[in-house]
Amino acid sequence: MSTNNQLDLIGVGIGPFNLSIAALSATKPQLSSLFFEKKEEFAWHPGLLLKDSKMQTSFLKDLVTGVDPTNPYSFLNYLVCQHKLHPFMASGQTVISRLEFSDYMAWAAHQMPNTRFNSPVEAIDYHDGAFVVTSKGQEYRSQHLVMGTGTLPYTPKCVEGFMGSQCFHASELALHNPDLTNKRVAIIGGGQTGADVFQHVFDNSFGKPAFINWVSRRPNIESLDEGCFTDEYFMPDYVNGFYHLDQNKKDREVSRQKLTSDGITTECLKGIYQRLYHDKYVLREPNWWSIQPNQTLVEVDKTGGGFRMQLTHGLTGATSFVDADVVILCTGFKRGLPNCLAKLMPQVETDASGQAILSEDYAAKWQGSNNNRIYMVNAGTRSHGIVEPQLSLAAWRAAKIINNICDEQIYDISESNHVLDWGLFEEHNPSQPEQRMSAMP
Ligand SMILES: Cc1cc2nc3c(=O)[nH]c(=O)nc-3n(C[C@H](O)[C@H](O)[C@H](O)COP(=O)(O)OP(=O)(O)OC[C@H]3O[C@@H](n4cnc5c(N)ncnc54)[C@H](O)[C@@H]3O)c2cc1C
Repeated sequence: MSTNNQLDLIGVGIGPFNLSIAALSATKPQLSSLFFEKKEEFAWHPGLLLKDSKMQTSFLKDLVTGVDPTNPYSFLNYLVCQHKLHPFMASGQTVISRLEFSDYMAWAAHQMPNTRFNSPVEAIDYHDGAFVVTSKGQEYRSQHLVMGTGTLPYTPKCVEGFMGSQCFHASELALHNPDLTNKRVAIIGGGQTGADVFQHVFDNSFGKPAFINWVSRRPNIESLDEGCFTDEYFMPDYVNGFYHLDQNKKDREVSRQKLTSDGITTECLKGIYQRLYHDKYVLREPNWWSIQPNQTLVEVDKTGGGFRMQLTHGLTGATSFVDADVVILCTGFKRGLPNCLAKLMPQVETDASGQAILSEDYAAKWQGSNNNRIYMVNAGTRSHGIVEPQLSLAAWRAAKIINNICDEQIYDISESNHVLDWGLFEEHNPSQPEQRMSAMP
């Protein structure tokens, strides 16, 4: 496939999602690829790698196992190579720390022949049937691209003017390593990140604060929907069926399914609740924390050395105020494509919400040649569903992209395996009902 030093695939960004594509490409000599990352070494949301944060997903949902457990970059191979498989099994963990999963991905990323760190992609152009990617002044040609540059921290408008060392997004927490001793701390946002941050601040990981206010717009501190039937949303057949639904229905379903990916793990919630119980009813500590659901941050003012935050209650409409010396925003992430794609973006077709329109195989619809495709990962929640920003099907999606590039089933992802009959599949695979009927006694 490769001619004249031209690669088949260049990946921009090495987060978990492009790393999965890199891992599954690395063992396939018929596919030449190179993945560029601006960071000096692999780092998975380093500002949020708190020492006691746990994964939301199983360690088997790693870079490769979902489609090729024999690939050398699996989590199990990492355990064996690090000589810790037996203690790992003895520990009985089903959910591992984010620190260990990050260590695993770094181990994999730095062994792969097709990854380049400290290599920001500065520009991407298109000439003579190939993408021309510039990194550190050097040009690389590739038939296809895969954009895996992740998401950007989201900051509510009312706080924008106050960002700095005392008011920052949680994605920078571990990098700031703030001294919170005797400080009034406000944590804004009630998802998994808010919970992880609350837990660590409560545990005095950054010094013993004077007071913690944890504020969430959500109606309660809500748990992740971790039911086994819920897991069926995170399986290939559901995604295949979902893709073909009408856009309004897709938007409605994604919004209905929010807590399947955006809630807080039961284990984390239990840990926090037990801490609070012990603190309040056993230690009888004087009141030094408050958890306030149903409160929306609407305005921020600077007061003396700190901040005064105005909140509006979601049910009563009442206004209240929270004073803080340090504000940690756990307000999530938003989509955004990097500047290096700016030159090509006018040729990429976008939907009403400004997002690139993706094919079933994750290729953006663009005005250029169909022989040159711009794949995008973590960009298709509207098209492919709630699983898109999760690790659950990262390996399956990577295999789908590789198969599409190679125009053959390099990875066998044809298996249809599910417990629920979603009723979404028939329209696009008319043979499916017959298969099911013939399986009946
Ligand atoms: C704190 C946290 C915990 C999470 N935990 C889980 C979990 O347990 N389970 C789960 O399923 N999902 C989890 N997620 C969701 C998801 O798995 C992660 O967000 C994941 O990191 C997304 O991967 P990505 O490859 O899209 O992007 P990222 O991890 O953001 O990686 C993108 C990379 O692109 C690089 N980049 C950007 N621009 C350029 C450029 N021009 N040139 C070169 N490189 C560039 C960036 O430096 C970055 O390293 C979590 C998310 C967060 C924020």
